[in-house]
This record gives sequence, structure tokens and C-alpha cells, in this order.
Amino acid sequence: MYGRQISLENTAILGDSPSPDSGTSTSAMDEERSEQNASPNEVDNTSLASSLVGHQASEASSPTLSVSQAIELQGSISSVQSKQKTVAKQKKKPSSKINTAYTIRTIVPAEKADVVSVARAMHREDFGHQLKGLFQSETDAALRAVQTGIYIGWRCPEYHWDCFRLGDQAKCFCGHLLGEHQKYTGRSRRVPCVVMRCGCQAFKFIPSCPEEVGEMWLKKRFNFDAAAWRAKCRCKHTHEEHQPTGQHACKVKGCRCVRFESAFLCAACDRKWEAHETFFETTDMRREANLPYGAAYLPFAEMPELRNVVLTGSEEDDTVFQSIGGGLPQPSTSH
Ligand SMILES: [Zn+2]
Ligand SMILES: [Zn+2]
Ligand SMILES: [Zn+2]
Ligand SMILES: [Zn+2]
Ligand SMILES: [Zn+2]
Repeated sequence: MYGRQISLENTAILGDSPSPDSGTSTSAMDEERSEQNASPNEVDNTSLASSLVGHQASEASSPTLSVSQAIELQGSISSVQSKQKTVAKQKKKPSSKINTAYTIRTIVPAEKADVVSVARAMHREDFGHQLKGLFQSETDAALRAVQTGIYIGWRCPEYHWDCFRLGDQAKCFCGHLLGEHQKYTGRSRRVPCVVMRCGCQAFKFIPSCPEEVGEMWLKKRFNFDAAAWRAKCRCKHTHEEHQPTGQHACKVKGCRCVRFESAFLCAACDRKWEAHETFFETTDMRREANLPYGAAYLPFAEMPELRNVVLTGSEEDDTVFQSIGGGLPQPSTSH
């Protein structure tokens, strides 16, 4: 709920000296494979598990752990936490998945205090700076939602938490930003694109950078081009090469794809793009639906130290939180 799978499957390759059993050597192949057989579900098991264990067992307590690793670790732990919720809620994972992943759930202390103490052990300022940067767009979106009373969230309809909090910079399946769509009030989910000749009838969020699909490591490639990156379908063509309406059939000549199916997983919940929907809601609607609103909608709302970090860059600085009435008692949401 508060976390993000930053790149659980690749935690180990971010360090300068990845541990030999971490699956490092296969990560590039994994990517190829996932493109080929379009089955990213299969990508994340053992190497991810072992790399996380590696962090837990040996690196977490090491003072030499780099900031990026710290954030990776943070992301990993948060991800495990969010996965725990997922599993508890729906038992969705096929049993064929191995289950170091399950072992890990017991190994990783999911206690919030532990996450924070790990964070504290790191180079504090850099950690705060990077974590804040990573969540900046969501923090901005959350603050704006609290201010305007209009919440735009991307989530699986059966969940009571948003995988992503969206603002005007969020990318639509049609390739245009939310800000390039019609004005929204929160009362309708039908927010059409206003860009000339774009047929998009309703804004639908799609990830626009590797972090949003848990592939942060991609950015470490020397030739990585952030501006050119696009989320892809199993057919290997990008979302922009698919129809913006209906089932989103592929427009590429000769491609027989009739329906966009993501070749990636959501960084927050590990499910495919098509399992999600974009919601436009008002504060009242969220209250009635038992969804977090107000200060409870902030990233890391349940972990005050990290919430402060993403708001202000400092664990102790809760001024932004206080300024939106965060100190006042909030009616409980969800659970
Ligand atoms: Zn458009
Ligand atoms: Zn659109
Ligand atoms: Zn396709
Ligand atoms: Zn295609
Ligand atoms: Zn999700």
C-alpha cells in the first residue's frame, strides 16, 4: 500500500559487486525471455528471492550499503509487504511459483519499525533525497488531491488501495498526459483526450518509466533512453501502437494482436496492466467506498518517518503533513 516494487528481481545488480548467487548474470536474459514468451510472471522468482535474502542477511547491516541499494531494499521490503497483503487478500499466485518467495515472506521482518531502522542506518540525507525523488510525482498528486478533493488513482478494482496516485503528468494509454485530456470533476471516469485526431475517449493510466513497472535497473544501462521508453504489449509493440479505444487492438501492420496485454507488471502489486482501472473520485466517493482520503492518501501514510521523508526529505519534518491537517484525527479507512 505504501510501497513500490522498485526492482525486487534485480536488487543485486545495482551494487558494484553483486553477489555471485544473486541471479545477476541472468537478469538481461530474463528480460529477453520475458519479451519473447511474454510471460513476465515467470521472471521474478528465485533470483529475486536470493538477492533479497542476500540483502537481509549480509548487506542490510553493512555500513557500506549504497544509497541506491538502500532504496532498493526499501522497495523490496515494501514490495514484500504489499505482496503479503495481496496474498492474504486473494491467494492469487499460482502454486507453480516456487516458493522461496514464500520463505522470504517469513524471513523478511515486515515490521515497519525495521524498515525504518534500515533506512536510518543508511546515509540519511541521500536516502531521503532519493526516496523523495522516487515518489515525487505521487506525493504531488496526493497533495493536489487532498487540496482539490478530486482523487485520481490507478488500482485493481478489488483492492482498497491505489497502486499509483496520479496527477496531470500521468501518461494515458493514448500516449498523451492527463493534462492533455478534458477537465475532470471526479464524478465521471470518462475523461476524453483533447489532442487533435486522438481517438481516446477515456483516460487510462499506463506506466511511463521503468520504475513504475519495477525495472529501475534499466536506467543503469549506459544507453538507456528515458524519453524513448514505452510500456509494451505481449506482441512487443508499445501502447502507442495500439488503438486507444475498445480492446486496444494492435495497429502495426501484420501484427495479429487484437487486445493489449501487458508484457510488464505493476510495480506496486505485481499484476498486469489490464487488471487495473483508472478511477476519478471525489472525497465523498472515497469515504463511502472506504478508501483512503485526506492525509491517509499520502504515500507511506502508515509509516510517519517515511511519509515525512517523501513530503519534506526529512524524517523529523512533519510540517507539510501538519499543513494539510494530517495531525487531526482521520476517520479510519479500509481494513
Ligand atoms: Zn490522446
Ligand atoms: Zn487518453
Ligand atoms: Zn499488442
Ligand atoms: Zn502488435
Ligand atoms: Zn497494481
